[in-house]
Amino acid sequence: MGRAPQLEIPPGAEPIGFSEGQLSVPSHPIVLFIEGDGIGPDIWRATRTVIDGAVEAAYGGERRVGWAEIFAGEKAHDRFASWLPDATLEAIRTYLVGIKGPLTTPVGGGIRSLNVTLRQVLDLYTCIRPVRWIRGVPSPVHEPHKLDVVIYRENTEDVYAGIEFAAGSPEAEKLRSFLNNEMGTSIREYSGIGIKPLSEFATKRLVAKAIQSALDSGRASVTLVHKGNIMKFTEGAFRDWGYEIARERFSDTTITEEQLWSEYGGRRPDGVVVIKDRIADAMFQQVLLRPDEYDIIALPNLNGDYLSDAAAAQVGGLGMAPGANVGDEIAVFEATHGTAPKYAGQDKVNPGSLILSGVMLLEHLGWGEAATVIVRALERTFDQKTFTYDLARQMHGATTVSTSAFAERVVANLSA
Ligand code: NAP
Repeated sequence: MGRAPQLEIPPGAEPIGFSEGQLSVPSHPIVLFIEGDGIGPDIWRATRTVIDGAVEAAYGGERRVGWAEIFAGEKAHDRFASWLPDATLEAIRTYLVGIKGPLTTPVGGGIRSLNVTLRQVLDLYTCIRPVRWIRGVPSPVHEPHKLDVVIYRENTEDVYAGIEFAAGSPEAEKLRSFLNNEMGTSIREYSGIGIKPLSEFATKRLVAKAIQSALDSGRASVTLVHKGNIMKFTEGAFRDWGYEIARERFSDTTITEEQLWSEYGGRRPDGVVVIKDRIADAMFQQVLLRPDEYDIIALPNLNGDYLSDAAAAQVGGLGMAPGANVGDEIAVFEATHGTAPKYAGQDKVNPGSLILSGVMLLEHLGWGEAATVIVRALERTFDQKTFTYDLARQMHGATTVSTSAFAERVVANLSA
């Protein structure tokens, strides 16, 4: 075992507090960061420069982020002989807000994925992924601005719970014979078997968060996406529990789509959120063909994974897709793509995903002015047809710049 990582708190920085459901954010808050593996250091450097510049531009020195590094992934393994040191988890529990670059999935060693482990150990049960187009970004669809959704993906259950047994293993054989002999199934010999648990508890707390966020942000609808026509007691139950929590906790502020038409003639009353549901396969068409009919979308883990990447493609791809993993108190913001090892250390890739995750972080702190400054600066940078390679290759006449040069352009545009 290596030595434990020490947290270096910048002088004068103070912890973010949490009480009665509210964050209290000092003017110089401690915010944790994990720079990440592969392309992580490149995109983190760019992101930190942009966030610091935006905070300075918005608050002129009255507010400042106190960055404190924590370790996970290869850097933690090299320095402390642990992929995910306890001290890292402890720091996140203490300081509540962090941002991370992508992490390599260790091969062997008992960890399925560091990201999945982080989400499960810290009970970061909601993965929030806003998907909206930023002016100037090349897109494969004609009207990318019509897609403006926030995906709420359940983060702790479903096939991601990691309960699966290899074909031919004693566990799989034991389970197969139990299911075949006692539960009337007929699973073939030499089958890998995975288990897909979805609970009422986890579904209701996710959907409640999605509805509350729709109410807080004035969004029109929450759509429950599921494959309940086939998987009735998991995906179908997700839909039923979603409607149930809307009735139990939000009866005055939600209506169903059926009520919208039968009682309100299709006109949504002010301050009310419409709860609707769609079958997952149909939803993949809907986001392409009728994107402006959707606002907040709540899904179980696996479908949420698929839909968020597919939707991100409509607004510029993974390089532009931010995300956050959020529990009751803790929030960890993250680039949604991986470590892209072939580009590691080349100062080449798009830092947009992590920068936009930084925008979410600033909004989470209640520093909306700084968040807006970044989005405006990105728009100006894209209007100037300045892109990293991934977006430049989708557009004629674009200037291709490195990760660091892109960040410099954005910083120059912060106060333009
Ligand atoms: P990936 O790292 O996301 O990269 C796949 C491709 O996506 C890249 O080759 C590149 O496409 C494009 N891409 C990714 N990030 C980009 C960026 N910032 N700017 C521009 N293009 C970008 O996926 P992977 O190669 O399948 O996974 C590599 C490692 O990352 C694995 O160890 C995996 O487990 C891990 N991973 C981590 C996370 C996380 O930490 N949240 C998420 C997913 C995967 P082109 O080749 O077309 O240029």
